[in-house]
Amino acid sequence: MKKKLFCLFLALIILCLAACNTNKTREPEPPPGDPPPVVLVPPEYHATIEYGEPDLITDNKGPLWAYIRFPVAGTAATDEVIAEWARSVYKNASDEIAELRKSDPDAEGEVNVQFDSYLVDGRYAGILENGMFTNSHLAHPIGIVRTFNIDTKSGKMLSNTDILDYSKLESIFGVLRDSIVADYPDITDQFGEMDEKWLEHITVGHDGIIVVLERGMFLPGYLGTLKITLSYDKLNKAFILGEDPEPTQPPAQTPTDPPVNPAIPIVPPQSGDIDPSKPMIALTFDDGPSRYTAQILDILERYGARATFCIVGNLVSARSDTVKRASGLGCEIIGHSWDHRDLSKLTAGEITKQLGDTSAAIESITGIYPKLFRPPYGAVSGTLKSTSAELGYALINWSVDPLDWSSRNADKVYNEIMNNVNNKAIVLSHDLYGSTADAMERVIPELIAQGYQLVTVSELMYYSNITIEAGVVYNSGK
Ligand code: ZN
Repeated sequence: MKKKLFCLFLALIILCLAACNTNKTREPEPPPGDPPPVVLVPPEYHATIEYGEPDLITDNKGPLWAYIRFPVAGTAATDEVIAEWARSVYKNASDEIAELRKSDPDAEGEVNVQFDSYLVDGRYAGILENGMFTNSHLAHPIGIVRTFNIDTKSGKMLSNTDILDYSKLESIFGVLRDSIVADYPDITDQFGEMDEKWLEHITVGHDGIIVVLERGMFLPGYLGTLKITLSYDKLNKAFILGEDPEPTQPPAQTPTDPPVNPAIPIVPPQSGDIDPSKPMIALTFDDGPSRYTAQILDILERYGARATFCIVGNLVSARSDTVKRASGLGCEIIGHSWDHRDLSKLTAGEITKQLGDTSAAIESITGIYPKLFRPPYGAVSGTLKSTSAELGYALINWSVDPLDWSSRNADKVYNEIMNNVNNKAIVLSHDLYGSTADAMERVIPELIAQGYQLVTVSELMYYSNITIEAGVVYNSGK
């Protein structure tokens, strides 16, 4: 399995290299004025998480910046298949960068994968992993797509032939063609010979079977990666999984336009219970909200402490209660981009959307539109700074990094923080790991015992007499 995936990944890379380097004219030109979609995860994407809790393989140090999100449901056998796939994505991307660095020591890359999971009929789980890999030698990112289907009753993975009746392929292809043409009327004559490869990436969904067609593999590349739903009605007897699931609608997501907030300077909220003459620290937690956020909130609440949560926009709607609770406890909620892309590699337009959509999602839950954000990986570019300045956002990095994503060990996280904190520090951690939450059980009371006030980033800045300015990067209250 592992070897096969590796080969597939290599083949994809080779295909793309060939397409990019040797035959740029093979792809039809996109319609004028219509930029080509590249990845399946547009900034307005909201993660749908109906099965499993998000886990993450991440690398915050480079030269491969990684953010690979995948579900863990507590069912060892199927969890392991998915985790193994996620690890292979990381390893293959990492190997690729290591290979490139043999001839180009500056080569670096980014791998970013998200997932949606659907629980259909209370029994069948469909998981769609999608994202991209890019590196400094590629002209375009390479799409990454993988689907998994699970019968949660038996705890077994489902194969595509458990879901669709392959003796009815012609009728399935007919439904697929009709569904594509309904969305893209111009491409009626471009299907060619269809074969089983078109159905490689399928998942059960609420309205039908979701088919993912990778960019340029089947249809003109300018269409991007396509996600097509084949309705259960239309598939009729070709859909053979159990009984026809009741088509239920997942909760509606309303995409919001990014409001422009050019107001400068940024005036942060303060709680009024802080003694400016005493030392203070801002604990910050990135990459949530997650299943461990509540444990950290419990600890903060127990000790009357506050922290700042730097959250990923597309996870907000799946855990809005947690975000609301954090805000209610006086914690500060700021953005950490919409989908954890490395913002230092994006254009001004893309950055605008990432920041605006995330702040709007936070505002819809907390009532506060944050003008601070933490850039993923702490990565900052000139464009990111100038765009932030224009839009009125300030960038918050950190001065203490316990590398909790790397050690995943509560003792190490505790020691790293306690050995390195000082007055006015901003401490980076991730509320995505049980080990980090466990470390906080000791870190928070110990810091308080040492005389530190645990405050939000805005409070730290305010009581440090720092006027927060748009477009500026802050690492501490010093
Ligand atoms: Zn992060």
